[in-house]
Amino acid sequence: MSQLVEIDHLEVFVIVDNEVDPISSYKVPGLTVGGQLADVAVRAPLQHAERGGAGFEIRMDNLCCGAHGLSLMITATKGDKRRTMLFDTAPEDHIWELNARRLEADIGSVELVQLSHWHRDHSGGMLKAISMINEARPSASPVVVDLHPDRPHYRGFQGPAGPVSLEADPTFAEIEAAGATVVKNDKPHTVLDDMFLVSGEIPRVTSYEVGFKRGMRYNQDTGSWESDELILDERFLMCNVTGKGLVVFTGCSHAGVVNVAKHALQLGGNTKLHAVIGGYHLVGPNEGWIKETVADLNDLNPDILMPGHCSGWRAKVEIERMMPGKLAPSTVGTKFSF
Ligand SMILES: [Zn+2]
Ligand SMILES: [Zn+2]
Repeated sequence: MSQLVEIDHLEVFVIVDNEVDPISSYKVPGLTVGGQLADVAVRAPLQHAERGGAGFEIRMDNLCCGAHGLSLMITATKGDKRRTMLFDTAPEDHIWELNARRLEADIGSVELVQLSHWHRDHSGGMLKAISMINEARPSASPVVVDLHPDRPHYRGFQGPAGPVSLEADPTFAEIEAAGATVVKNDKPHTVLDDMFLVSGEIPRVTSYEVGFKRGMRYNQDTGSWESDELILDERFLMCNVTGKGLVVFTGCSHAGVVNVAKHALQLGGNTKLHAVIGGYHLVGPNEGWIKETVADLNDLNPDILMPGHCSGWRAKVEIERMMPGKLAPSTVGTKFSF
């Protein structure tokens, strides 16, 4: 595997996340935050000064909408090189398209899409994202989509009255038909001039992070639902920012966010852990290990914790209580710069 290189600068644009909050303040050292209400207003200058000299208007149809899922547009810069990728693609076409347009995101700069794991809340907007990205970069080669080879026919979970199915993830054939070049990877590898590292399987080393309780997958070949609590296809993404350390992007952390952070440190040569952004999945039965999780994260001494998507409010409360000043929740429409 090529070595992950240090980058000068990292920018994260939250295209889709569960929470909308353009008005809370962020006061975390080392983090620049944009996309708040004031930035949205600047995009709508008033043509006439008939409102007593008001120069701008906050237009509600310029604000993003939240949805249960995740999609982050991430740009790494090193010297005069700038490379951009998309981490996950939101739960449905409509929301990805709506937010990408409202944010005026430069989607033509996206060269690669990584899916964190096969769950529809991360893959549902993929086909639309592929076609919009290719349309925005007509002279470039088709966007590459980096996927884990083990795609379940359906995923779901055991409910009180039997299996509950999610919608199917897009198939490899559908993703190719939408105009992407598919690459399949289950081992750690670097992409885009070695500025990003995509993990392989995440080792489970903590005793309490036991996966997605009652998780199941449907096997079309046997016609039956099978237990699938570990979600072994989940892969995180990370960068190494000079002078700051590792910034880790995690989809749902079904492996456990502490396992994610520990493996990131292992792959990154045990340099400093700077930030962890994405879904921590400390909801439902997993609320039972919030305290252990936050204590262990605290021991890893990150500078910033940026829970979003499926993290849940209880985990955010515990982080703020245990590690005051380090919480910067990921919310839709926000632009974070490291
Ligand atoms: Zn998931
Ligand atoms: Zn999820």
